[in-house]
Amino acid sequence: MRNGLNKDLIARVLGGAPKYTLEELEAKFPPRELKEGAFVTRFAPSPTGYMHLGGLYGSLIDCKLAQQSNGVFMLRIEDTDTKREVKDAVDIIIKSLEKFGLKYNDIPEYGPYYQSQRKDIYHSVAAYLLEKGMAYPCFLTAEEMEEIRAKQNAAGFATGIYGEWARDRDINDEDIVKHLDNGEVPTIRLYSNGNPEQRIFCKDAVRGSISFPESNEDTVLIKSNDRLPTYHFAHLCDDHFMRTTHVVRGEEWLSSFPLHVQMFRMMGWTPPLYIHTSTIDKIDEETGKQRKLSKRKDPEANVAFFLESGWPTESVIEYLGNIAASGYEEAKTKGQVKTFWDYEMRPKKIPMSGALFDMKKLEWWAKEYIATLSVPDLVKSVVDWANEYGSEDNKKQVSDIDYLTSVLSIERDNPKRIRKDFITWKQTLNEVSYFWDFLFKPNREYEYNKDALREFVANYDVKDDKDAWWQKIVCTAEKLGLKPGDVAMNLRVAMTGRTNTPDLYSLMQVLGGDKVAERINMVM
Ligand code: GLU
Repeated sequence: MRNGLNKDLIARVLGGAPKYTLEELEAKFPPRELKEGAFVTRFAPSPTGYMHLGGLYGSLIDCKLAQQSNGVFMLRIEDTDTKREVKDAVDIIIKSLEKFGLKYNDIPEYGPYYQSQRKDIYHSVAAYLLEKGMAYPCFLTAEEMEEIRAKQNAAGFATGIYGEWARDRDINDEDIVKHLDNGEVPTIRLYSNGNPEQRIFCKDAVRGSISFPESNEDTVLIKSNDRLPTYHFAHLCDDHFMRTTHVVRGEEWLSSFPLHVQMFRMMGWTPPLYIHTSTIDKIDEETGKQRKLSKRKDPEANVAFFLESGWPTESVIEYLGNIAASGYEEAKTKGQVKTFWDYEMRPKKIPMSGALFDMKKLEWWAKEYIATLSVPDLVKSVVDWANEYGSEDNKKQVSDIDYLTSVLSIERDNPKRIRKDFITWKQTLNEVSYFWDFLFKPNREYEYNKDALREFVANYDVKDDKDAWWQKIVCTAEKLGLKPGDVAMNLRVAMTGRTNTPDLYSLMQVLGGDKVAERINMVM
């Protein structure tokens, strides 16, 4: 501990008198009245313009743990890095959470939820630390810091502002005033008591107790350029006063874990329980090796990809849920639960490393999900997607809802025998594109038996029931010495351009008599 600063100096150092005392903050944000065992979690993204799949994974865990324990899930926007801020970034985050069905249920009393609006809180805590001699104003310039860094590198020391390198650690009031009179704005640094020779034990809810050397860095708490907090200090203040019980965050934060625990202890506050999640990996197509999803190489690293290409958001959630809680798939297969939201996930089972996201596996979840939808739900999903993200052609496809409904109704009346050929909304519309004349491309390569087509169409009546229709195919076949299957295949290709389609009778019903005749004519 060093000498504390007096009130006037604190106000000058912070650019204004603090608004609250620590007691006032404690009273303003009292412990929450929740039933025992309720989780208070938060998703705390920095608004950098896009949402990473890892962010969706983490927020799903946050949301699920809060939901299943009747707790609280907050969205906290970490917008203290004004340089990296991107327009619309917050809208993208909010919209993504909404689209994927991750509802937050925070209450205004513990807000505001934008860090840029919480300056009063950070400055009040910083004032307390300055007064107690647990923090100090540091006037090192960027050039001086660069020099220190160069010297440390040359001597093979760890870089950073610590111990004897921390020039202003014991700065006296007189010198502080001199710098301030000079118009300089200081950073506020932690007066670290850590000793790297000693180890500190940090508790992670999944990894158990991890020991690290203590941190002796005089970490920046408040930056000088905008007087906003660093991540470390905002995390301390916010997760304490928002009464967060569980901090779910990426494993990249493990290295600053000891610093955070030291800061909580220094304040005499109980740290939240931490869950450091694994990064989301994939198998690299070229090397066959497991690696992190890359923003540059992998479109699926960006959550927007799933929305734009029409993946059912529910299936992405189901799949990510199964990565976080590997018992889910089995419980679902056994019929014990219907969706991930019904499954009780166990924090201890969240994987510590190697969480693998495989698009092929997602396809399976998507097919299974779409197969459970009723026709009206399927139609609604396809229409909503096309109107928001689809091409002009897709929009035309969904403009006649009745027609789209009849197209998507084919082979969906028997829940046990639903075709699992729809994967995404985009691919669904593509899969059935031949139903629209403006997208239909007659297959002129196929070697048709034109006699069979001629004979069949002469007798075809759209009002025929399936048996009568089949009889006509059989008759045509007999007359020409063919197999009924050959006649059907000729018709199938003429109608759709494809050799593999859903039920031929139904699709001809949907096309209608005129189109059937027209399409046969096209290949004659
Ligand atoms: N803003 C931090 C990030 O985006 C939040 C980490 C945390 O959840 O504490 O990585």
